[in-house]
Amino acid sequence: MATLTNPSEIARETLKQLMTRRMAPSPDNYRAIYNEIAGISDKPAGAFPERELKSLLLSLPKETPVQQRLTRQLEQALKAENWEDYRKPLVDFIREHSSESELAWSDLISDILRQWEAKQSGLTPARKRESLDRVLSAGAKNSELLFSRLQSLTRSWAMNEAATDDIELAEAVVEAGDASAPPAAAVSTTSPLSRASELLPELREVFAFTLETIVATQLDDEPELVAQAKAFSGAVRSASTLKAINELLGDIKRFAFRLEFVAEDRTELRAGLLKLLQLMIENISELVVDDRWLNGQIEVVREITARPMNLRTINDAEQRLKEVIFKQSQLKHSLMEAKEALKQMLAGFVDHLAEFADSTSDYHDKIENCVAKISQADDIAQLEDVLADVIKETRIIQLNAQRSRDDLRVTKQRVDEAEKRINELQSELDKASLLVRHDQLTGALNRRGLDEIYDNEVARANRRKSPLCVALLDIDNFKKLNDSLGHDAGDAALIHLVSVIRETLRPQDTLARFGGEEFIILLPDTAVADASKALTRLQRELTKRIFLHENEKVLITFSAGVTELRSDDSQAGAIKRADEAMYTAKKTGKNKVVAA
Ligand code: GH3
Ligand code: MG
Ligand code: MG
Repeated sequence: MATLTNPSEIARETLKQLMTRRMAPSPDNYRAIYNEIAGISDKPAGAFPERELKSLLLSLPKETPVQQRLTRQLEQALKAENWEDYRKPLVDFIREHSSESELAWSDLISDILRQWEAKQSGLTPARKRESLDRVLSAGAKNSELLFSRLQSLTRSWAMNEAATDDIELAEAVVEAGDASAPPAAAVSTTSPLSRASELLPELREVFAFTLETIVATQLDDEPELVAQAKAFSGAVRSASTLKAINELLGDIKRFAFRLEFVAEDRTELRAGLLKLLQLMIENISELVVDDRWLNGQIEVVREITARPMNLRTINDAEQRLKEVIFKQSQLKHSLMEAKEALKQMLAGFVDHLAEFADSTSDYHDKIENCVAKISQADDIAQLEDVLADVIKETRIIQLNAQRSRDDLRVTKQRVDEAEKRINELQSELDKASLLVRHDQLTGALNRRGLDEIYDNEVARANRRKSPLCVALLDIDNFKKLNDSLGHDAGDAALIHLVSVIRETLRPQDTLARFGGEEFIILLPDTAVADASKALTRLQRELTKRIFLHENEKVLITFSAGVTELRSDDSQAGAIKRADEAMYTAKKTGKNKVVAA
């Protein structure tokens, strides 16, 4: 159906529709269908008048920073459909603006009178009259413009030391500010000094914004200072007289002084926390015995905390500590089992020893007794009795010894079983360590760790609209190194490479071991040309910090491909591009960096 515009046609069609749809001809039904036909959205009464408020917002002036700020506030309120947030800034603005300009005018006039009567070096009354005439005869239609020109003029009179310069400044403002020309055109023709005075309101707004949004949010544990920062930001926006600005300056200086103390306290606190952390790490490494991997991890954490900290290094330290704690709890469990088994075995052994000693000392007593009997024996029959005793006691001791041996055998079997279980636990532990995010040999991230960081980095780069580069590097002729110097030397070379990379690249760059002798590096905030430079710098660094094997120098080189992430890239896609570039580097002579 074509949209009808004529109200009487719409009314006729509405009645027709009411009949064909068999609806009761109530006012509500009539209005609903009328609106539907006329294409008017049928909002319930009292709904947020978005359209009207938006058109009001569009027609508001947005020239000065204060007006722009108001516009931003209203836009937000509109988006949130919050009537109160819309009404209040508008009312406040009108109220402040009217009272502020009244006040400012009376202050300005008394300033002019005061400066008119004061004596300034190099300024005759005739000269003053001339400049004042010029400002007034320029006849600004806009009262704000006239106000600011008069203000500049008075200020230039007040600064009598640099009187001549300032008169020029004030006059330049007057001359440039031809009342018929818009202020934007004036900017392009004014002198640098008068442009500076035009930029002042913007500077004021930025300062106020810094106070209320940046300074205040940094002080969330100091409510009193937050309140002050917010109050000052309001005052920075509204202070218009010399007196008010002077007062504000004093207040802000005192405020800055207090902030300095807060900053010092925080620096100390951070240093204290860091020291505590380092102590804890030291303590853990004292407790952890006989586990190369764990000690390696702790060494890495220690290294991280010894360098300047940022959010990323703290996250990294946290990840690694979690891994240490995880593995340690597993180890503790198996150690406790082993100790328990040992204790049982020892307890059993001591019991048997005691029993054995008891029975042997008993046996000795009896044998001594027999010996006494033998020496006192007068006939063979008596001797036979003694011999029977000896045989009996000896058999008992033999039986005891055998029982002890059997018991010991059972204990030993139990210990063996415990040991087997400990070994099983150890291998489970190794499997579990696959869950961790770091490569056990080099301490670089493994693929799992890379996946996690990769997503974060891409999200961050998108948020900041900053470039992110992916580099893939592969050691040259690594097989040859392994074959000629041995696998252990190969391992040590990998560890060496990783430590050089860590120390050469920036802390915010991410390093992951991608496969045997292949590594991925993520370089945030870096365009491809700079990423290539970083990799080339790394190559140079490797030739300086040469790898030593059994006191022999071994040169390690690598080939690398670098690519900048595109908006539609998947992780695999970006890595594939870097890999192709790396392959080109290999084909064209190795020890090169190629950008995709
Ligand atoms: P190209 O310059 O073309 O890269 O040659 P390459 O010899 O470096 O490359 P290739 O892929 O032929 O050999 C890689 C070797 O890296 C094979 C493997 O023995 C060795 N490797 C992989 N992982 C490790 C490891 O963890 N330790 C040691 N020592 N060697 C490893
Ligand atoms: Mg390879
Ligand atoms: Mg290789």
